[in-house]
Amino acid sequence: MGSIADNIGGVTRRIQKATKAANRPPESVRLLAVSKRKPPEDIRAAAAAGQLSFGENYVQEALEKMAALADLRNLEWHFIGPIQSNKTRDIAAHFDWVHSVDRLKIARRLSDQRPESKPPLNICLQVNVDNEDTKAGATLTSIPQLAEDVIQLPGLRLRGLMAIPDPDQSEASLRESFRALATALNQLREANPDAEGLDTLSMGMSDDMETAIEEGATIVRVGTALFGARDS
Ligand SMILES: *Cc1c(COP(=O)(O)O)cnc(C)c1O
Repeated sequence: MGSIADNIGGVTRRIQKATKAANRPPESVRLLAVSKRKPPEDIRAAAAAGQLSFGENYVQEALEKMAALADLRNLEWHFIGPIQSNKTRDIAAHFDWVHSVDRLKIARRLSDQRPESKPPLNICLQVNVDNEDTKAGATLTSIPQLAEDVIQLPGLRLRGLMAIPDPDQSEASLRESFRALATALNQLREANPDAEGLDTLSMGMSDDMETAIEEGATIVRVGTALFGARDS
């Protein structure tokens, strides 16, 4: 692999190519750099190359990196991992976005615990789009009600939907999964015309970002293609 700066350039070109093929403007897709299990120096290198949004999966690890990088004032932090109830306070206090909300109880805690000095926390609802037994996420059928409830919470701003489709499926069925998420977001927008900022489809990773972008992704979450393989 090249340097982190080279990799950011390479992924940015992949995004540009995919948006062009889909007749979408290049700026309609944001790159979220997934830095889980990577050291703060890697984040610093990415930030020096202009990448300012980072995704983390583990609260304690993320808080340590935030402390080590406190001199970089303009980083945006996205929590993308499974959420335990006892971690919501730290998430609400230190992150700008959460992509992995899949039940109302967690949403209520995040809203209650969001500091008043900060803007509402940006939220995506995670959907278990392939109905995998082992995967986190709400079912597609439960999304309309969950969204309606989350929209009412004052500490949160519902931005859209997130999914991690089963990677072990054909390209065609992977595409169907992304498409199902896009359809669900459109239905939410129709059902909640007054909800502002319901504009986000967080889908696509290192191996499948092109397909996700063709199906409407607005945030791609990319780790390996930027920072290399993770240990263990
Ligand atoms: C690790 C992770 C990613 C990044 O995956 P890569 O294949 O390394 O690009 C994206 N989203 C979530 C939720 C992750 O946990």
